[in-house]
Amino acid sequence: MEHQSRQKGFEQMLESERLDGFLVAHPANLRYLCGYTGSNGLLLFLDGRRTFFTDGRYTQQAREEVAGARVRIANGSLLAAAARMIGEKKARAIGFEADHTTVAAASEMRRLARRNVSWKPASGLVMHRRMVKDADELRILRDAVKMGAEVYQQALPAVRPGVRESEIAGELEFAARRAGADGMAFETIVASGKRSALPHGRASSRPIARRGFVVIDSGVVLHGYCSDMTRTVFVGRIGREERYWYDAVLEAQLAGIAAVKPGATAGDVDHAARQVLRRFKLDRFFTHSTGHGVGLEIHEPPRLGKGQQERLQAGMVITIEPGVYIPEKGGIRIEDMVVVTPTGCAILTPVSKELMQI
Ligand code: ZN
Ligand code: ZN
Repeated sequence: MEHQSRQKGFEQMLESERLDGFLVAHPANLRYLCGYTGSNGLLLFLDGRRTFFTDGRYTQQAREEVAGARVRIANGSLLAAAARMIGEKKARAIGFEADHTTVAAASEMRRLARRNVSWKPASGLVMHRRMVKDADELRILRDAVKMGAEVYQQALPAVRPGVRESEIAGELEFAARRAGADGMAFETIVASGKRSALPHGRASSRPIARRGFVVIDSGVVLHGYCSDMTRTVFVGRIGREERYWYDAVLEAQLAGIAAVKPGATAGDVDHAARQVLRRFKLDRFFTHSTGHGVGLEIHEPPRLGKGQQERLQAGMVITIEPGVYIPEKGGIRIEDMVVVTPTGCAILTPVSKELMQI
């Protein structure tokens, strides 16, 4: 893993932000920067050195996993141990993850603040680095997406009238475990019939009806990285209006993908997908954003929503997932993961988007 180069890059960023040091506590950021996968940890960047604090329960795990930082086992509060070290160094501006700090931790930080230390709330600094994936991450993400696609295919035969949504989710999740996934990236969505009009219809005990859409949105976690894909199949013979909805969503999804390239804004991609649905007079049924970044967490920046100004860069991994949801009738969503390349993008999800009638 490229932990050392990630740490170097982050240290350069701290310099340009005029921070003397930085405290990282968010688990996904810890994993990204030093490889630690446990729960209680604190990584301190100070004076060009990294120190990792954890408690006695994680001694062995920290020694095995943490790369590029000295491991210190603290007896009491990790924050107090880090603050002591900061005090000794006479550092001034120490950044912390304002977007991942509890009120309790913030009040402890205030209590620990010495005259010569000032805590600087900073949001999204590590996340900003994580948006562009390095070669190690891309390799793992490709594997995760492949596994996610395989387990979807394995669960597909379970989709038939009378089978409960939860059974289909169970098949998929069992296949993921069997394939060696760490777990699921989020609660599997299997939404059939009228429930397919719920963008986040978690698998319920409802049996699949004789006729209607089934939206399946699922993702695995592999070596810490998430996959995310959605396919919508039709049980029975599809009607003309339903076919029109499906074709509209597929065309919107392809237009979204075609708009992905370095320099385009996240909002441009959303606009491209939304425009197609407007042409089909279905845009008012598209009630969420077009996609999101994926990596160690299932929802990462950039958010591909209306007017989002973040510019895409080669190496970002994002989803493209427009949908239409017609209340009381049904819904369709089609989602792929893509990686932004120097000239456009490459689709990672290796599953056909042709309408499948079961
Ligand atoms: Zn999804
Ligand atoms: Zn998604």
